Amino acid sequence: MSADFGTTGNGTDRGEGTDEGTDAVAGRRAARRDAAVRAAVAQGLLGPGPGAPVVGLLDVTGIRESARALRAAFAAVTAPGTPVLHAFAVKASPLVPVVRLLWEEGIGAEVASPGELALARAAGVPAERTVLDSPAKTPEELREALALGIAVNADNPQELERLDGLTRSARTASPLGIRVNPQVGGGSIEALATATATSKFGVALRDEGAREWVVRACLDRPWLTRLHVHTGSQGIPPARMAEGVAAVYALAEEVNGRAGRRQVDTVDIGGGLPVNFASEVTAPTYGQYARALREAVPGLFDGRYGLVTEFGRSLLAKHGTVVARVEYTKSAGGRPVAVTHAGVQVATRTVYAPRSWPLRIAAYDGAGRPKEGPPVVQDVAGPACFAGDLLATGRALPRLEQGDHAAALDTGAYYFAHHYAYNSLARPGVYGFLADEAGSVRFRVVREAQPVEEIVAEAGGAHAESLTRASWVRR
Ligand SMILES: *Cc1c(COP(=O)(O)O)cnc(C)c1O
Repeated sequence: MSADFGTTGNGTDRGEGTDEGTDAVAGRRAARRDAAVRAAVAQGLLGPGPGAPVVGLLDVTGIRESARALRAAFAAVTAPGTPVLHAFAVKASPLVPVVRLLWEEGIGAEVASPGELALARAAGVPAERTVLDSPAKTPEELREALALGIAVNADNPQELERLDGLTRSARTASPLGIRVNPQVGGGSIEALATATATSKFGVALRDEGAREWVVRACLDRPWLTRLHVHTGSQGIPPARMAEGVAAVYALAEEVNGRAGRRQVDTVDIGGGLPVNFASEVTAPTYGQYARALREAVPGLFDGRYGLVTEFGRSLLAKHGTVVARVEYTKSAGGRPVAVTHAGVQVATRTVYAPRSWPLRIAAYDGAGRPKEGPPVVQDVAGPACFAGDLLATGRALPRLEQGDHAAALDTGAYYFAHHYAYNSLARPGVYGFLADEAGSVRFRVVREAQPVEEIVAEAGGAHAESLTRASWVRR
């Protein structure tokens, strides 16, 4: 594939689609974030006093921009009238107001558990704009999805057998498909690569006899109308993602050729567009990816196939910021350490796999203003009681002092919405913000900070006596 995804989207996204990859867009996003941090302190969301020691902030303007860029990118490469469903992978930000905001921008939902389906429904996403994928769907989940008319992608032959039974016993409006693993290989983060030879997802297409099995499975079941591929998330080169899409397109053509009709009418190309965590710029952009896909697989875009996409991280990551107060500073072995309130509970992947998930850190002063000063190599630590609880190690930043704030950038997906309850640390409040040109900022609650009473309740507080001697005697 000849398309250039670039490493900085700057200036490569002319004409078609959108300008989401430019420095100007990145600069405006950074300015909105700075205004929001300042306002979070001024308006008392962030301590001292009644404010919290750590909050998550979401840039509503930026989220809308990304949703629009996604829609524009695919509209620019598809034949007029092509049905395209962009389904947000709810796991990337399982917050009802976020799913709702995206739905207001015309983005549906991709769900992979009863909880995610319930969130999507609570957000008002209709069944016909919802897709259920998961490797372990129970019969009850499948029955509910089919009763609601939600699209389902079967992961494996056993699941297809369950669908055989369910489609025999009741009519359904659900579009049904099979997920295949094109086995095109992984990327830089092994845990997130779903198209390796031995991945647990989908039907492994290059295994002996598998391709013929999929074709037969389709020909035997006229109700199978979709094929699904998701080659992985962060770390998979987009060219490899396009290879996976090309493999599934070829399979759809084979099924339809042998069926003598257009049985497979929709290809679900999954999500997985990587996010640039190294700088402010959005790269690659949806426009670049959509154009590269069209170049690699032109037949998929000529109007014969509907499309489903399932992007998650790329819609949200750059629009979220964790801001934490610096509680103490110290020095150890000659290295300055800032002890903050953001660590493993809000940045789990970064703390446990720092090489795969480095985050940019921004320094703000006590009033929430960008901190000036010569860079000093320091560690930015979290509040949890283990040595590896570090947001950043040996990072050059203006020297953080007690009462300052440290912000972990690009944390809008798979970070503060994915709380990890180590040390019974509370889930921080999450606030959406709108910043106007004049720098005035308004906040809305997305999720309240978790009160200590809730921590106790979720820790079995109502069952305090259940293991005591008296409890066993009574029952
Ligand atoms: C996680 C996942 C996605 C979203 O991946 P991103 O990297 O967040 O875009 C889409 N589809 C499936 C099946 C997934 O498991």
